[in-house]
Amino acid sequence: MDYYSKQISRLIQELGALPGIGAKTAQRLAFHILNMPAEQVQALSAAMVEAKQNVRYCKECYTLTDEELCPICKDHHRNHKMIMVVEGTRDLAAYEKTGKYEGVYHVLHGAIAPMLGIGPNDIKLKELMQRLAKDVDEVIIATNSSLEGETTAMYISKLIKPTGIKVTRIASGVPVGGDLEYIDEVTLLRALEGRTEL
Ligand code: ZN
Repeated sequence: MDYYSKQISRLIQELGALPGIGAKTAQRLAFHILNMPAEQVQALSAAMVEAKQNVRYCKECYTLTDEELCPICKDHHRNHKMIMVVEGTRDLAAYEKTGKYEGVYHVLHGAIAPMLGIGPNDIKLKELMQRLAKDVDEVIIATNSSLEGETTAMYISKLIKPTGIKVTRIASGVPVGGDLEYIDEVTLLRALEGRTEL
């Protein structure tokens, strides 16, 4: 890319390092940005920098948020005695899109994957168990139906069983290995409604 000046090449390089952005797209985006009004470029870079600086884990459910408590945990109209356990913040977003779930969440930030060296201590499992010391009626395990998701579900249910809290697993209408965020809302709702006790 010698035919571009240093700063243009740098912009293309940075954009190209993002997932799903190939060399061509990186160039297209770079020239798009160079053609944008200065204020818009400023707003874009400020959004990235500020989000990176301020986004952290919700101290209750561990989803990503820019406040101490996320909007869901803050909401008194939600059922705080029903906790849905998901692998990532994007899974939470998928269930929120259905608009039908009234409980709260717990975000694990991963799944147990022994082959990859990811054990129970590498995800937010301890934090889940701490939450269960409070008054909880049901834990819905909504990890993916991949091998890792199922392993995690079994592990969690064994951990919770002795506490006497009801543990359920979403129905397996969710395609095997399918990430929750790519599944349509109707399928998600069916999976939720068809959940079974473990
Ligand atoms: Zn929260």
